[in-house]
Amino acid sequence: MKIHSFHESTPDDAEKLIKLVEKLTESISMILPAREILSRCRLISGFSHEVIGHSENNAAIDFYKIGNGGHSVLFYGFPDPGEAIGAAGILALMQALSDPESALHNLDVTWLFIPCLNFDDQPDGGNSLKKIMKTSAQEVDWMVHNPRPETTALLGVLKQYRPLFVFPMHDEFHCKELKPVYFPVSHPQPEWLAEKIRRLVRQAGFAIDASFNHKQMGEGFFIIEEEAGEEFSSCTWSVAQQNGFVFICELFDAPGMPHRKIVATQLAAGLSVLAALIAAR
Ligand SMILES: [Zn+2]
Repeated sequence: MKIHSFHESTPDDAEKLIKLVEKLTESISMILPAREILSRCRLISGFSHEVIGHSENNAAIDFYKIGNGGHSVLFYGFPDPGEAIGAAGILALMQALSDPESALHNLDVTWLFIPCLNFDDQPDGGNSLKKIMKTSAQEVDWMVHNPRPETTALLGVLKQYRPLFVFPMHDEFHCKELKPVYFPVSHPQPEWLAEKIRRLVRQAGFAIDASFNHKQMGEGFFIIEEEAGEEFSSCTWSVAQQNGFVFICELFDAPGMPHRKIVATQLAAGLSVLAALIAAR
């Protein structure tokens, strides 16, 4: 298994990152459905925009790129029906990155975004966020051997850019249930980084899923390949992890918690891993 190195940030760096995420998510009032996210992303300037495929229902799969850094990083939203937290985070990140003065441009990164991977299976034609449960025929991330167009499009990006950090923004938002938070990852990450992520998730008011307790990383974390077993070869992350680190933060729609805070927590967790990976290079 590939070993990734991570740079341990100072408390000062961590503070800066949290401040940055708070700032870039401050305008979020609501987590938005897919159609709204896609139309807002199309209005943001400064990105190169490409359509990397069309779904069976002929929805364009939008792909955005900005920056010329030494390391590619990929964020993708709406991977499954109703998994909407990540796309709101992508929209906020893209809006921040469209400002050439953003501190995010100090990172040695080429930013890649797919705001909505699976449009076809979103509730109400992408117009609502009502409760929905996915079927296995909708899990485009798990169809490498029998790919849907969305799977092929994603694999194309992974092969072309070989991103160092891949953030599939899966979540438990769609089911409208209270769940503790868990973190599927491609490789072991250091205990200090796992602990930093647990701390920021707990500080936001979420509980950690203690039914996962990885021997190195601790509570909430597990290695995807170890859980999935043989089935893992059908997953896009088996390709992504050949070159990079895959990190997932499965949050949910906590009653009474502002949407802004849910989005900011997932984004801060992902950016913590990204920053630690980049700083170690
Ligand atoms: Zn999912």
